[in-house]
Amino acid sequence: MRPDTLCIHAGSHPDPSTGAIMTPIYQTSTYVQEAPGVNKGFEYARSQNPTRQALEEAYALLEKGRFGLAFGSGVAATDAVLRLLAPGDEVVCGNDMYGGTYRLFTKVHERFGIRFRYVDMRDTTDIEAAMSDLTRLVWVETPTNPLMNITDIAAVASIGHRHGAIVVVDNTFASPYLQNPLTLGADIVMHSATKYLGGHSDVIQGALMMNDADLRERLYFIQKSCGAVPGPMDCFLVLRGIKTLHVRMQRHCENGRAVAHWLRDNPRVARVHWPGFLDHPNHDIARAQMRDFGGMISFELRDPETAAALKVLSSTHVFALAESLGGVESLINHPATMTHASIPREERIRNGLGDGLIRLSVGIEDVQDLIEDLAQAIR
Ligand SMILES: *Cc1c(COP(=O)(O)O)cnc(C)c1O
Repeated sequence: MRPDTLCIHAGSHPDPSTGAIMTPIYQTSTYVQEAPGVNKGFEYARSQNPTRQALEEAYALLEKGRFGLAFGSGVAATDAVLRLLAPGDEVVCGNDMYGGTYRLFTKVHERFGIRFRYVDMRDTTDIEAAMSDLTRLVWVETPTNPLMNITDIAAVASIGHRHGAIVVVDNTFASPYLQNPLTLGADIVMHSATKYLGGHSDVIQGALMMNDADLRERLYFIQKSCGAVPGPMDCFLVLRGIKTLHVRMQRHCENGRAVAHWLRDNPRVARVHWPGFLDHPNHDIARAQMRDFGGMISFELRDPETAAALKVLSSTHVFALAESLGGVESLINHPATMTHASIPREERIRNGLGDGLIRLSVGIEDVQDLIEDLAQAIR
């Protein structure tokens, strides 16, 4: 099936007991057994739930992988991947990534003896230099949050594999509609399904997709043993969201393109970060590995004072001031004090994330309303 058909049909099967076309919300904790151990493949809902299974099948198909696993949040999915490691193991990861991932790495997993090496993932020589005999995992986020940097997934996968490491890509910003890292050599794809997959800002959920059966078994063991599973209602909401992923993403991309160009032409704006610009440092790689460039944009005003940025952030009416992204409605955010506040200021600024940076999640409203809203805010 082609991607647009897949969004609608992936994981959807008429319910065997009634023929219901939509997967029912199996709101149950356990399943009655005919005799001890004799059951229909469902024992206890932390291990198996039919609504979750339908979603996990959809996750696998959307990422062109064999297996999908659903988690209670994006960070729970990330946490599950890190539980593959043992004390002393090393992780090579980007120095410009989602603040919550950074917090999980530094504040939780470092305490258990995992070591993290942060590198500039735009440059493969930096990645190569950070690899050691102890490297077990390479963590890639592309495009990055919030600077929209692009990493060459195929190149990183081959470096990682040469050193025997598992290569993971956080594909949240692109969504499976725009980029499929497993087809470029990654071993695991991670998503915050809270964002584009759910798409309506009404659910928190995470996902992992992979091809290797052994890796799937190890991660399934962690999923059921550590227990960060999503409830069936949340699985239903994401299944429902996925049915319009393709039309939403097409509009996110179209609106994102218009807003990015409008910002770039605005004399009060100094810099716009969006991988669709021909002069974006890794535009060619973005073009090769992504179908389109998405609706995430960040920018800096010509006036470098934080107050100028804060004024814009509090002046929009259509763009809502909020964390998160990927919903149908447009959001505006101040990474330095909101999504990325857990990164120490010097380190944040060293990595190019200044106090004046503004991030937009461009929604699927009428783009003229979005541009007029920004025009009256950036004055
Ligand atoms: C939101 C986000 C996460 C974390 O996901 P949650 O669902 O909030 O736990 C991870 N990575 C990226 C890129 C995100 O935007």
